[in-house]
Order: sequence, then structure tokens, then C-alpha cells
Amino acid sequence: MIKELGDKPLKSIKKLGKRTLYLRGSPATLIYISDNCVYVVDPGVGSKRAKKLRSIIRGLNKDRIMCLLTHYHSDHIAIAEKIGCSEIWASYQDSLFIQDPLLRNYMTYGYPFIASKYFLYNAPSVKVTHVLNAPCKIGELEILHLPGHTLGQIGVLTDDSVAYLADSFFGSKVLEYAGIPYHFNPLLALNTLEYVKEEIVRDVETLVISHGPILNREEGRSLIEENKHRIMKIMNIVLDELSKSPTSIAKITLKVLRALNANISHTSLMLGMV
Ligand SMILES: [Zn+2]
Repeated sequence: MIKELGDKPLKSIKKLGKRTLYLRGSPATLIYISDNCVYVVDPGVGSKRAKKLRSIIRGLNKDRIMCLLTHYHSDHIAIAEKIGCSEIWASYQDSLFIQDPLLRNYMTYGYPFIASKYFLYNAPSVKVTHVLNAPCKIGELEILHLPGHTLGQIGVLTDDSVAYLADSFFGSKVLEYAGIPYHFNPLLALNTLEYVKEEIVRDVETLVISHGPILNREEGRSLIEENKHRIMKIMNIVLDELSKSPTSIAKITLKVLRALNANISHTSLMLGMV
């Protein structure tokens, strides 16, 4: 399959299964090649990446290019309309926020924040052509519902034993830097982690998260535990602080970030407060 990519295979591309390719990045992109179409999961952000993806897709020589967006965050969707896809798929819960940047920022930060210099990323409106209701199947791919990080987050399971688990959990470096892993609903995120560990990990050989390394089963289980532990630790700090005296969300967030030795910035505070 890699041969079809042209004479010089790109260093940033890795073959994960018979039909599945991985394009390194944060977020990482999954490309699944079926007999008659190409699926691109979370194309990412940046004009260089768009150019690279366009050239990879062209090399695969298929007419039908389907883009799957796991959730509405700008870094996952920014170039979705710039890579030559004929269809863009997303969950019904997240589609509205993929299409409307104002609502997207409202959902991401908890209020309609417009001082975009503090945003990590910005993305234009992206038109979702096909809305899905996970769990379901699209062609050869199984679509998982992974709520928590966002309410409609989805993951993808391929028939060559690869699971793309989006932002349901994060690599150790990301955890260390961000301090507070972003989850719109941390309790749902914990349920999803349990589900992934019990139901998904045992059936696949390779796990891909958007921000972190490629994982085998054992590494996956241990990183899931690390992420669960981090979420519970943060909950305990919050409960502990609230039991002392009433305080503001901003002050508690700052305390959590300090306790975890994390990077403190406008953006980390804004995201942490959510
Ligand atoms: Zn995200």
C-alpha cells in the first residue's frame, strides 16, 4: 500500500496494518484504504499538512475520499475542507459545533470567548455532509462512541486491528505539560476509559491516540490507568479545596495546575476551568 504513495515514502507516514496508514502529528491522522475509497480520520491543522495529505490521497488513486472528524475541536478539523474529500462525516452531537465556529468556541471554553489570540487553534466553519449516530458501521470501519472529552466524540476501529481513540486519553508528555487533561465531562471520560480498557484494547493490536505515541495493548492499558489516575487526582484536589471554604473556579484551577506542576498560561487556565 505504501508503494502507491509514490517513489519517496514520507518519513512521517507509518503503516499500521494491511490497509491502515498513520500520519504523524498532534493530532495524528489515520488513513484507511478500502477497495473503492479512502477514509481520512482527523486531518488536523496547518496548510503544510493539508498539502501533504492532498499528495498522499492523490497517490492512493481512489475517487471517493471520506473524511471522518472525531470531534469538533479546531486542531482536529481545521483542514477538513482543504484535502479534497468528497464527504465529511461527524457525530450528530458534535456536528453543529464543527459547522459553527462561534458555538464551537462557546462549547470548548464554556462561554462565547472571542479574544482569539488566546486560542490554541482557530478553524473555519466546516460543512458536515453526513451525520452519524455512534456506535455504528461505515463501510469496513466500526465507529465507537467515546463521550467525555466532548459529548459526541467518536473513535474508529479498523478490520486490520487498529483503534483510533482520538482524545479519549493523552500521552504522558501532554498530561505533564497540560496538567489538567481536557474533558468536557470528566465522569463520562472515566466511563469511556473503562470501556476502552475492558472492551476495545483486548481486541486490537495497535492503539492510536491523537496526541501521544502509537501504543501496543500493554502500553495502552498502562496509559489509560495513568489518565484515570490523573482525572481522579484532580477531582480529589477540587473536593478537598471546596471542603475548606467556598472559592472561585479560577482559583481552584490555579491550585490544581500548581499542584500538578503544569504550565500556567491564559490558555491552560481557560481550558482547565472547563
Ligand atoms: Zn480535542
